[in-house]
Amino acid sequence: MTPPRRQPARRRAAVLATVPVAVAALLGAAGPTAPGTTGAPGAGDPYFPLSGNGGYDVRHYDLTLRYDTSSRDLDATAVLTARATQRLTRFDLDLTGLKVTAVTVDRAKAAFRRTGQELVVTPRHALRAGQEFRVTVAYHGTPKPVTDPDGSADGWIPTDDGAFVAGEPQGAMTWFPANAHPKDKASYDFTITVPEGRTAVANGVLLGQRTAHGRTTFRWRETQPMAAYLATATIGRFQVQRYTTRDGIQVYNAVDAREARAAAPALKKLPSVLEWESKLFGPYPFRAAGAIVDHAPDVGYALETQTRPVYDSAPDLDTLVHESAHQWFGDSVTLTAWKDIWLNEGFATYAEWLYDESHGGRSAQQAFDSLYARPASDELWDYPPGDPGSGENIFGTPVYARGAMALHELRRAVGDRDFFRILRAWATGHRGGHGTTAQFVTLAEKTSGKRLDGLFHTWLYTRGKPDRP
Ligand SMILES: [Zn+2]
Repeated sequence: MTPPRRQPARRRAAVLATVPVAVAALLGAAGPTAPGTTGAPGAGDPYFPLSGNGGYDVRHYDLTLRYDTSSRDLDATAVLTARATQRLTRFDLDLTGLKVTAVTVDRAKAAFRRTGQELVVTPRHALRAGQEFRVTVAYHGTPKPVTDPDGSADGWIPTDDGAFVAGEPQGAMTWFPANAHPKDKASYDFTITVPEGRTAVANGVLLGQRTAHGRTTFRWRETQPMAAYLATATIGRFQVQRYTTRDGIQVYNAVDAREARAAAPALKKLPSVLEWESKLFGPYPFRAAGAIVDHAPDVGYALETQTRPVYDSAPDLDTLVHESAHQWFGDSVTLTAWKDIWLNEGFATYAEWLYDESHGGRSAQQAFDSLYARPASDELWDYPPGDPGSGENIFGTPVYARGAMALHELRRAVGDRDFFRILRAWATGHRGGHGTTAQFVTLAEKTSGKRLDGLFHTWLYTRGKPDRP
């Protein structure tokens, strides 16, 4: 995600208080049932306790969506293929708003109820640990975004010609039932029907589109594992541009005509940015790439939706470099806890510094120095990036800027050769999977042969402005 746009639009500390109450209610409700047979209502993330669920692992989402851009009604079916990781008499999916009309588990009608953001499903027969099963959820209604702890809107955000769809950190549940925590990655199929003249853009490769009776259906497929927050189904009146890069990456750009002129210079550079990043970080992790440039003045940010970032307006080159770097750092190598968000944002921000440095701009050292010159009272030093403290802080300046400063200090400590070996080993070794801060520190020490715990302690975990390095 790109913060310089997002932050001015953010209100602070609006909705945090509601979460613990909801958790207490759920835990209370779970009390009388036999322990060990009901899936947990959350994935265990302290910042977003109800995001994700326990007891199963989703392998694949097959989403069929039909969106009416004038009434803003969504009519949808989600088919999730999952594996139980424990015996389950009951499990949860994350879904907020929208009306669920039917749930089946392996084609047998299942009982369900709604509690806050949980869709609680009771299959007719208990699921065995290790059993693969298929859940089908039919639902409809008018999707609305959620408000994040920092006041930003997230999820399905209606626009004047469709919807801007971006789910970080918790918005996936506004438009499909999901195990909506980055720990659980899955492949996706999307079949999206919209009024003729609109384009529906999701992740991965476009399999086909067909127009009949005034409606167009787009079929998209993302075969690489993807966290729910990185899924999109952005809809609008878009100009479409398609080509294949020298490396065989299928590019699909969808651009709102109102942004086309301003977006052209950055979009033209996409292949060279991906090539440059591939040299630094290792091979591009996906088959498809591109950009969705919407005209969504109320959104205030861009998001690195997998393979195809979504921009609320024409991106500048720095923003394009940032969201592209996330394809390695965040999308391919994914967090296991939101606390580790600097692994996404610090890295993507440092990619911007590196790009400037090698394209005639200021050096990374200059970027570091100008930040370090900020007084101890500056918001940059409000909290340490490795421990932001709450979901309210995960997209704040310390995570981005001080996170990038931590990487710069690592580079100075180990030298360029080892630093870039570390970045590549991180991206390739955890490709398509997950990574934690502890694993990154271990990798950096192993690769460089240096003890780095002091450096990381100072830059990631110590409160206040660190002493002059
Ligand atoms: Zn970002």
